[in-house]
Amino acid sequence: MSGILIRGARLVDARTDARGSLLAEDGRIVAVLAGADGEASILSLARDPASVETVDARGAVLMPSFIDLHAHFRDPGFTHKEDLESGSRAAAAGGFGTLVLMANTDPVCSDQAAAERNRARVAEIGLVDAFQAVSLTRDFDGRDTSALAELDPAVVPVASEDGREVASARVMLEAMERCAQAGVLVSCHCEDPELALAAKPHREAALRALALRGDNRFGALAGSADFEPVRASLDAAERLLRLAENTMTERNLALAAAAACPTHIAHVSTREAVEAIRRTRARLPGLVSCEVTPHHLALTSLVPAIVNPPLRSEDDRQALIAGLLDGTIDAIATDHAPHTAEDKASGAPGFSGLETAFAVCHSVLVKTGRMDLRRLSALMSENPARILGLARGALSPGLDADFVLVDPDAEWTVEPMDGKRWLSRGRNTPFVGERLTGLVLATYKRGRLVHSRPLS
Ligand SMILES: [Zn+2]
Repeated sequence: MSGILIRGARLVDARTDARGSLLAEDGRIVAVLAGADGEASILSLARDPASVETVDARGAVLMPSFIDLHAHFRDPGFTHKEDLESGSRAAAAGGFGTLVLMANTDPVCSDQAAAERNRARVAEIGLVDAFQAVSLTRDFDGRDTSALAELDPAVVPVASEDGREVASARVMLEAMERCAQAGVLVSCHCEDPELALAAKPHREAALRALALRGDNRFGALAGSADFEPVRASLDAAERLLRLAENTMTERNLALAAAAACPTHIAHVSTREAVEAIRRTRARLPGLVSCEVTPHHLALTSLVPAIVNPPLRSEDDRQALIAGLLDGTIDAIATDHAPHTAEDKASGAPGFSGLETAFAVCHSVLVKTGRMDLRRLSALMSENPARILGLARGALSPGLDADFVLVDPDAEWTVEPMDGKRWLSRGRNTPFVGERLTGLVLATYKRGRLVHSRPLS
C-alpha cells in the first residue's frame, strides 16, 4: 500500500474543526477535504487510487501527531530505564510523531556526531522521528562550549543543559552567543544549582518519613493526616526550588536578550516565571518561547511526588493555564523521565509521561471547557513544530503524513503495570489508577500505521 484514505473523521488541527477526509500517499498528505462531498472525489486525487487503503474513521478525531520538545530516552547509559526502542514505542502509543531528546545520557550527548547517532537509530526503528539535543557544555562540565560552534541546526536544532543548568552566567552567555550564531535554539532548565542543592536534604527527609511508614509509593498518601511530616519537608524543598526557578529564569531571559539568542524556557512551573516570560515577550517579540508539562497543568503539591521543577500551588497551576490561553506559553512538552521503581524510591525526580500526555491535557483543559481541541492541537503540534522550524504539526497538503486518530470522549484508567498497553519501561506515573478522558487509537508515521491500541 502506498496510500491511505482516512474517511469520515472529525478533522482537527490548530485552524480546522470539520468532518471530512484526508488522503496521504508516499508519506505525505495529498489532500484534505471537508464535508461529505469530499469523500467521493478525494480518491481521484491519488496518483495510484488502486493502491490506496481506506480507513473508515467515523466517530474518531483525526489530528496531526504531537511534537514533544522535551523527552528523556536514557540511551546510551541508562537503558534499564528506557532505550531508543522502548521510548519510540511509548511515544507512538502516546500519539507523538516527533520528539527532542535531552542530552543527560551516559556519556552525555555533547557533540553533533553523538546526536546524529541517536537520530539515525531512532529513524531506523521507524516509529517516530527524534532530534537529539546536545549539551551546552562538554560532558556538562559547566565550562567548555566549543562544540556548539560546529552544530548544523538541521541535524541538531536544540542545545540544552537539561537536568541541571549552566551555573556560570559568563559561560551561559558564551553558549547562547555560539548557539545564536549557529542558528540553534537554547532550551533552558531554569534552576539555580546551589538553591537546588539546598532543597535536597528536605526531599531526603520526605523520603525517610515515607520509608518509616514502610510506604514509598509517592501518591498513595495524598490527603491523609500521616502525611503531614512528608508534606512539611516537600513544602520546604518547594520554597527553595521556587527561588531556584524564578532567579534562573530572570537570569536566562537577561542573557538571551544580551546574546540575541532564540531561547526556549523548559517546564515553566511558577506564576513568577510565567510573568517574567510574558514581560520579555512583550518587549522582545520572537526571542523567547516556552513550554509547560501536563503534570504541572494537572497536579499541585497536594500530590506527594518528586519531580523537577516540583509540583506547585493551585495559584501557580491557574497561572500556567492562563499563560496557555493568552499565548505566553507556546507548547505542552512531556519532560518524559522514565525511572525504575528502585530509583524512584530513592528520590529520582520525574515522571514517565508520553502515554498519558494527551489524555491528561484533554481531561484538564478541554473536558473542563478551558479550551477547545483546536487550541490543544496548536499547543501539542503546530507551535512545537514552529519552534523547531519544521513543516509539520498541521493537516495540510504537502506536509508529512504524521497523524493520530483519537477518541476524545473515551475514558480509560492509567495502568502502568499493564505490559500490553503501557509501553514505556518507566512505570513512574503520578496518574496511576486515575480515570482520564481522551484515548489515542492509532498513530501514523508518514502514512504508515505505527501504533494501534490493542483491543481488551
Ligand atoms: Zn529539565
